[in-house]
Amino acid sequence: MKKLLTILVLLLSFSAFTQNADSLMMRKIFENAISSNDAYNNLRYLCENTPGRLMGSEASINALNFLKTYFEKLDVDSVYLQEYKADSWKCNSTSVSIITSEGKIDLSAEALGPSAASSGKGLSSYVIEVHSIDELKQLKKSEVEGKIVFFNRPVKNTFTETFQMYSDAVGQRARGPMAALEMGASAALVRSVTSLSDDVPHTGSTRFEDNRIPAVALGVESAELLSKLLEENENLKVNIKVDAEELKGITTYNLIAEIKGEEKPQEVIVVGGHIDTWFNTAGAHDDGAGIVQTADVLRIFKELKIHNKRTIRFVAFMDEEYTQSGGKHYANSIDTLVEIPYFALEADAGAFAPTGFTFTSTVEQLKLFQTFKPLLEPYGIKFIKAGWGGVDIYPLKKFNTPLTAFRTESHRYFDLHHSANDTFDKINFRELQMGTTCISGLIYLTDKYGDW
Ligand SMILES: [Zn+2]
Repeated sequence: MKKLLTILVLLLSFSAFTQNADSLMMRKIFENAISSNDAYNNLRYLCENTPGRLMGSEASINALNFLKTYFEKLDVDSVYLQEYKADSWKCNSTSVSIITSEGKIDLSAEALGPSAASSGKGLSSYVIEVHSIDELKQLKKSEVEGKIVFFNRPVKNTFTETFQMYSDAVGQRARGPMAALEMGASAALVRSVTSLSDDVPHTGSTRFEDNRIPAVALGVESAELLSKLLEENENLKVNIKVDAEELKGITTYNLIAEIKGEEKPQEVIVVGGHIDTWFNTAGAHDDGAGIVQTADVLRIFKELKIHNKRTIRFVAFMDEEYTQSGGKHYANSIDTLVEIPYFALEADAGAFAPTGFTFTSTVEQLKLFQTFKPLLEPYGIKFIKAGWGGVDIYPLKKFNTPLTAFRTESHRYFDLHHSANDTFDKINFRELQMGTTCISGLIYLTDKYGDW
């Protein structure tokens, strides 16, 4: 009995010792993150020098090359561009105006991707306002044919969870224009999916199959104005001009940088975000922030001379916004005879104060991750729970790789998302680096304690 007690005391003090060593390491990571301007300066560069990084754009390549040079200077073990081919789309300009007897009223508008182009003079037609795809489908085809369908449902601010608020409202943007096309409409206008009441349009993807029509997002104030004028005169006409083109089979890249593992280099821990943005935004929060935070993990590991057992690999995924081709290509390129996709973390929730991590994993793995929570709590982590793992890393699920998404205080996220509002001045240095701390801490602990 006495022997058993001694073992128990030893075990307890050992676990207290490792807990203490880990919390000291978390503190070191934090002090390093909060003392470095690299992530912040890298984000400034991406926002100011490479806005509009949609796949296929020159800005997207410039952004990759900038990061590649950064990692070369950091002297990581390897850094390279992973080439592949995919289709993309390009928007040169968008304009929407209401035609009145006194002249025209310009509305604030941006094309949705991949909107069809209009003719040079634009397309003019009557407008039919609806608030959902179901409402549209209840109309007769003859009522819709040739007209512009205007989806004008506001987001519901009664959701406490901002991402739920977004999911609830995004259907009219994602599927509305195709539903309009199927009803014979000539074009679609969609109220921006944002809780902000300004007039800055928020773009995003919309789904088409073989045929497309012009599909355009309106700023909230513009949508309200159009709705009000339609109430006064239902025979109002609107003119839509979209200068856009499809890009077929273009060459593009993911960027990969890594620090080799010392004990199990074939087991690969991925951290990353997406380097692309929509054409109309600097992409500070979406997702320049996720890129620079996860890039900073490698810098922190190098500077603190952490002896990682497994390979820590940063991936800048291309094309999250349009067809998610970068994430798919990355997963397809993995040869499981050569490496084991051990774990993946995606940061794509903006550089707001950290709140938690959601995991797509087994119950046993989640239990292990939850033991990390007390170590990460001082830096803002409130929850570690099951949930969505991330768009770009999702294709790794076929390898049963546990996946996690970094989560933030996101009330302001959809004010900025996919719009010209998403600029560098909206970034708070401390919030950015608290996030970097939590991400780096989770990667450190996963490398140390991962046992699957
Ligand atoms: Zn994003």
